[in-house]
Amino acid sequence: MNFARICAAAVMLAGPAVAQQSPDIEMWRLDCGTLELSDTGPFSDTQLYDGEERVLTDSCYLIRNADRYLLWDAGLPAALKGASAEQYVFTLGLEKTIADQLDELDLTPADIDLVGLSHYHDDHIGQAMVFPQAQLLIGSDDADAVTSGAMESTRAQLAPWLSEGASGEITRVTGDHDVFGDGSVRMLAMEGHTPGHKSLVVHLPRTGTVMLTGDLYHFEEQIANRGVPAFNTDRADTLASMHRFDQMAENLDATVVIQHDPRHLDRLPTFPESAK
Ligand SMILES: [Zn+2]
Repeated sequence: MNFARICAAAVMLAGPAVAQQSPDIEMWRLDCGTLELSDTGPFSDTQLYDGEERVLTDSCYLIRNADRYLLWDAGLPAALKGASAEQYVFTLGLEKTIADQLDELDLTPADIDLVGLSHYHDDHIGQAMVFPQAQLLIGSDDADAVTSGAMESTRAQLAPWLSEGASGEITRVTGDHDVFGDGSVRMLAMEGHTPGHKSLVVHLPRTGTVMLTGDLYHFEEQIANRGVPAFNTDRADTLASMHRFDQMAENLDATVVIQHDPRHLDRLPTFPESAK
């Protein structure tokens, strides 16, 4: 039996097993801030978007699998709430914290078992410290970069898991990672934006498959015109990841949600409604 057939057989075996278990799972989209761009130029290394103004949203996601909760990405810092800050081409804002939104679901930060990060940028880790008891899931190469000595402010924001002698539970993810062990939620290796960048694929019983990009894409135009941000760590890896992501989305007939694109907000129910 050749390799392709072995893979096909494995998929056939795995498929019904996952379906039979039909995990009790739902997902909420949380508002984790806004990023107004005075110039979208830096989001292409071939001058695709020079001079364009653009408003991006910042999204986090809460996923419940039976009695366990995963927070996917941790947004902008809570200190920004009700204020705004200017950095580089960005004006940053935050209306509600993650804890505010958990409270609306009668949850507290202590209820979160797992915090998964697509990558280490500031708009994805800002409120991670609110969940020191949670297990951190981070790409291994991202964790290495954060502890390399060149990213001290980032390291401070992830101190419970990555400071020297930290005792927080951490999984340094190499390749893909089956988050709950039942195939329902998987982190996908999508390197290039950062060295250990991940996307997330979620299989919901009624909604179907949803793929969250992380920052593989920031807005829809990048899918069609292959806009690679000038600040990505590896152009070739980014293009390879885009190829993998697009092919997988097509094969799984997935709903693709670009986490930063406000035009994708209506692809999931509006909080506090969940996708089931
Ligand atoms: Zn981002």
